[in-house]
Amino acid sequence: MKKLFTEIREGEPVFWRNPYLSDPPAFSFSASDVAAAEARLRRFAPWIAQRFPETAAAAGIIESPLSDISAMAEPLSRKDSVSFNNRLLLKRDDSLPISGSVKARGGIYAVLKHTEDLLFAAELLDEKADYRVISTDPIKSFLRGKKLAVGSTGNLGLSIGIMGAALGFQTSVYISREARAWKKQLLREKGVRVVESEQDYEAAVAAGRAASNADPDSFFIDDERSEDLYLGYAVAAGRLKKQLDEAGVTVDAAHPLYVFLPCGVGGGPGGITFGLKLIFGNAVHCFFAEPTQAPCMLLALATGKRSAVCAADFGLSGITAADGLAVTRASELVFREMRTALDGCFTLRDEELFDYLRLLDKSCGIRIEPSACAGFAGIRSVIPECGPDATLLVWSTGGGMVPPEEMTGYLRQ
Ligand SMILES: *Cc1c(COP(=O)(O)O)cnc(C)c1O
Repeated sequence: MKKLFTEIREGEPVFWRNPYLSDPPAFSFSASDVAAAEARLRRFAPWIAQRFPETAAAAGIIESPLSDISAMAEPLSRKDSVSFNNRLLLKRDDSLPISGSVKARGGIYAVLKHTEDLLFAAELLDEKADYRVISTDPIKSFLRGKKLAVGSTGNLGLSIGIMGAALGFQTSVYISREARAWKKQLLREKGVRVVESEQDYEAAVAAGRAASNADPDSFFIDDERSEDLYLGYAVAAGRLKKQLDEAGVTVDAAHPLYVFLPCGVGGGPGGITFGLKLIFGNAVHCFFAEPTQAPCMLLALATGKRSAVCAADFGLSGITAADGLAVTRASELVFREMRTALDGCFTLRDEELFDYLRLLDKSCGIRIEPSACAGFAGIRSVIPECGPDATLLVWSTGGGMVPPEEMTGYLRQ
């Protein structure tokens, strides 16, 4: 342990296995919570299909493909000096419709859940209705009088901003210093109020929470505390199960599934891990990827100090090119849920993000954002134990909306 904390402090990449992992894990939510979230998304699907034509072919279900990226295995083996013949898959949340990142799961779900709560309470909608009425009066004008707010490093702001604006909410995004200029511009084009901060993500969330709570018409979508976000992410697991079946991938004790998920505050990877463990038990092994300078979930879990510990306590800057992962303090809720469920955490240096970004582009022609590449760094550490029948799945979490000029810059780095 002493060695681990010394390495973390020195900004060295580490791989940490969770000694508190238990089977089954101690979760506060159940499969019926996830089923309720899936049912809610289905109720909204007809409205989504109509409002966002790019989802029409999928009947308004926001989902991403699962890609075989075996062409990357060889260059990856060479870069990380490991050899393996395991099946290598990429879950393409970079190509999720509407906002091009994993936040199109939890973020959009949280907006829809709040919308339903408001409309049910006002008796303007019920579960049996055709939700396409949302785009007509009186619901349309009702929602225009309501406000939404969120704190974000960028991608959550995009998801909530785009969906909030589409529903008619007056939406404010409190955005942290890492956010790319194009994300702020795109939000403004959608009619979203962008409140810029020179501070980090935690401060942006605190500013948004305080402003929103002072206004009775405003609802704050709280990335550090929201059960709705978490459950929205968890829905991904059942969808992935179907895709694995279709791809002929068996998951059981003899054929384990190793999943590598980039982690910011924890909601996205945490919710997905929760969903996967419900379905596959400990035949699925989930690992979170974090930047060496912002390993908030690793610190929370390995020290056991929950969200009381932050990157600065270990002399770390929190500064990283992985904007979605530039989070210095973990979500308390996700810490609690992952304490006995997560297999482990690992960290990587920023320059490696760009190595993986280039390798994936070159071998498979897939372009994703730097944060979304973090999962690749976990493979080298599990190869010695996972056996030849394990499937390796890297969760790509974003990049679908990155402008081409910006992507060219990433590829050159
Ligand atoms: C937000 C984000 C993550 C991590 O999600 P958290 O819920 O913050 O842990 C990972 N990758 C990208 C690209 C993101 O935008």
